[in-house]
Amino acid sequence: MRGSAIFSLAALLLLLAPTPQAQEGTAPAIPLTLLSPDGRGPVPTLVLNGAELIALDEVSDRFGVTVRDDALAGGITLTYNSQTVVVSNDQPMASVGGRIVALPSPARRLGNRWFVPLELLPRALGPIYDSRIDLRRASRLLIVGDLRVPRVTGRIDTIGPPTRATIEIAPAAPVSVTTEAGRLVVHIDADAVDLLLPATGGGLIERIRGGELPMTVAFDLGSQAGVARGVPTEVDGVTRVAIDIAGPALAGAGSTPGGAETPPAPSVLPPAGAAVAPLLAGPRARLETIVIDPGHGGDDTGVMGSGATAEKTIALAVAQRLRALIETRLGIRVILTRGADQSVSLDERAAIANNSKADLFLSLHMNAAPAASVAGAEVISLRLDREGEDARQVAAREAVSLPVLGGSLRSIDLIQWDLAQARHVDASAVLAQMLEEQLRARVTMSSRPRQRAALRVLAAVDMPAALVEMAYLTNPEQAQLARSENFQTSVAQGIYDAIVAFRAYLEVQAAP
Ligand SMILES: [Zn+2]
Repeated sequence: MRGSAIFSLAALLLLLAPTPQAQEGTAPAIPLTLLSPDGRGPVPTLVLNGAELIALDEVSDRFGVTVRDDALAGGITLTYNSQTVVVSNDQPMASVGGRIVALPSPARRLGNRWFVPLELLPRALGPIYDSRIDLRRASRLLIVGDLRVPRVTGRIDTIGPPTRATIEIAPAAPVSVTTEAGRLVVHIDADAVDLLLPATGGGLIERIRGGELPMTVAFDLGSQAGVARGVPTEVDGVTRVAIDIAGPALAGAGSTPGGAETPPAPSVLPPAGAAVAPLLAGPRARLETIVIDPGHGGDDTGVMGSGATAEKTIALAVAQRLRALIETRLGIRVILTRGADQSVSLDERAAIANNSKADLFLSLHMNAAPAASVAGAEVISLRLDREGEDARQVAAREAVSLPVLGGSLRSIDLIQWDLAQARHVDASAVLAQMLEEQLRARVTMSSRPRQRAALRVLAAVDMPAALVEMAYLTNPEQAQLARSENFQTSVAQGIYDAIVAFRAYLEVQAAP
């Protein structure tokens, strides 16, 4: 975690939160959709004290489980294929095959119906059910059965022109790209798609949205858009479609001295098999050294989770896995700010990164919250305060030498540190977005997956930088998960994928 300030912040947020809903709960803003091989449809749920609940009679109807109020078992039993789940009616947990799983809230009786948290379905019913149960809270999907429902994320990479954008499909799926009047459409071969698209477009792309046809993503193009292309590639189980929208053909270009009319800019894809330069090729970008900063260390354990899981230990373990991935696959030099359980100050960490002239700085941490139910990964990049924003404008003018600001009551050192990251806040925000997207494909994200904060360790480094809070150690389920090889590898792989994407972004930026 980043310091005790998070507790006071959380307390403040609680004060600012709306008063608890009426005892009956409220309907969620967007209904939950059940996807199964039989079709799709809404599932009634309600939100009570921050937890989303589903009625047990809905569960028994839809999942074919037998529900009994069982005082002897100390809760409610759900039986399926002669296996039983016991849901506690006073503790936020359930027991499945003798194993305890955490839930956001206990079962609740409202009127004459029992309600349980939605998480019960994947966490407790899932292990004994004969079909896969996948709850995607962020996209409001409950997927039952082996459906291919890839997550589809989109982003604008450069405004241009040419405007460049990327669609990522994870896990990978076959795609095709077509263009029609004012639009480029990506068709995805899947049972359904889980779309997480940016709210706004940019450059020659007015909007990225779900298309009229199922399983499509449509790019609405501006009136100035010229040739539109989409080139799919598949790397490490993720399909990426690099979208390239050329600017308008110059007036008169291509016209003959005889005054023949300029042909309109073609708005169709080149024929299949035509050579299309891959978007992400280009001059080698400057990504030669990466500094990975495992948070805390030595006497500073960071957050202590259940099972004596220390933040400093998980941070170092993931850092070492990530270093191995980067060094073996990318051949990029990796420096750790600490390679063992030792104490290193924040300023020393920044100095290691600055002195090694690193091109990327990633700090790894584990999070903490007063409520045990809070879970998921978060990515933080630097937020500039007013003074920092001034510094950024100064730094933009003075690309070579960093000026020392006079007349400030703050120490010169601190101002210089602030200036160090000020030049990189935009690139760091792009890096944070890529980290969020790639981590989302592999681990649970928190409800606030990307944030900006004035963090000293980020402010001090003179390179694109972000801090990753990998999971909440105050959540017993996440604390247990954090010790597993599977989790540590997933986080390392997600960060690795983001580094690959960021390197590609730098290459595009560097391209003429
Ligand atoms: Zn920390």
